[in-house]
Amino acid sequence: MKKYIYADNAATTKMDQEAFEKMRIFYMEDFSNPSQPYSFSKKSKAAIKEARAIIANCINADPDEIYFTSGGTESDNWAIKGIGQTTEKKIIYISNIEHHAVINSCQSYQNNNAIVNFLPVNKKGIVSSKTLENRLKNDDKTQLSKSGIKLVSIMYANNEIGSVQPIKELSAVAHKYGAIFHTDAVQAVGHIPIDVKDCDVDLLSASAHKFNGPKGIGFLYIKRGINIQGIINGGSQESGMRAGTENVASIIGMAYALKNNCENLEANRKHLIRLENRLLKALKKGGIDFIRNGYKDHIPGNISISIKNKEGEMLLHRLDLLGICVSTGSACDSKNTQVSHVIKAIRVPDDYSKGTIRISLGKNNTTDEIDSIAAGIIEICTKRC
Ligand code: PLP
Repeated sequence: MKKYIYADNAATTKMDQEAFEKMRIFYMEDFSNPSQPYSFSKKSKAAIKEARAIIANCINADPDEIYFTSGGTESDNWAIKGIGQTTEKKIIYISNIEHHAVINSCQSYQNNNAIVNFLPVNKKGIVSSKTLENRLKNDDKTQLSKSGIKLVSIMYANNEIGSVQPIKELSAVAHKYGAIFHTDAVQAVGHIPIDVKDCDVDLLSASAHKFNGPKGIGFLYIKRGINIQGIINGGSQESGMRAGTENVASIIGMAYALKNNCENLEANRKHLIRLENRLLKALKKGGIDFIRNGYKDHIPGNISISIKNKEGEMLLHRLDLLGICVSTGSACDSKNTQVSHVIKAIRVPDDYSKGTIRISLGKNNTTDEIDSIAAGIIEICTKRC
């Protein structure tokens, strides 16, 4: 098998070994449906209880505030579409760098009973609490705002540039104006410390495959007392809030992956910052003219760079030929290179924006791999092509 250098951990991650081992038994031995009353179901029922407690502990929530979903997309859809009563008027505020799981969930409301407002970010990809406050204060004067339910949804960390938002300040402002506060924390959970009580969020989305857990499983944290309806109807699983037979193996795999990442947050951070610095230093030394996107406070290992007068797609494919997996901040259609909404929002200069690539490192990356990535980029960019 060809050996790849995997540097696209913001897209997905390799599974944690212990988490993977924990899953096996729930497929091959204790495979029962946890809703059944007989004793064979005791172990799968207990595993779900154990997983809920582990996850709650990792983000300082209570176990009954954790609801299992099929991943980040479903959690975001639930948070956006489930708030309030279906007939209630909704006023939603999101940043203009949200993931499409949030943007498109909001779009589904357009022309319906919701108004969606986009908040700008600064050049570092940060929504300031002042921007949010000005907007809410202004809208508070209108009759419309008084009659509807308000939701502010701002991502904890951005998937393209890794910038981490001032979530505690933003949720405080949202609450001051009577809004519910949701954060898409898919890129943050398992990578930086998260304390839902300290930052006082009402709803928080997470996805296991972003923190070395299995794909197709995630959770939504719902603070006790928040007015939200389920969006998947059927049986009475998840306290009647999210129907469907539980994905027991993945739930337990997610819990152990998160536990292991959270127990090693500081060691992983140090390792990743060391790798980041090594890569950036090598690129500079190799004469690459680039801008690093994002904020100094970022998800460890997430390196978005825009290289002058280059095409991100070309870089991705040339690196692929060298067995190196990265991502771009742009996509080619048949005629043009389209710069992503995030790269546009942070106003990367035109001669750099099309040459954006995201190198997202994970805990398994090594210094040798970093040296190969740097050498690959230097070779591609300095060769005449
Ligand atoms: N939100 C963010 C910030 C993401 O990065 C992603 C995945 O890339 C999602 C939501 C969707 O998560 P999932 O792949 O689990 O549906």
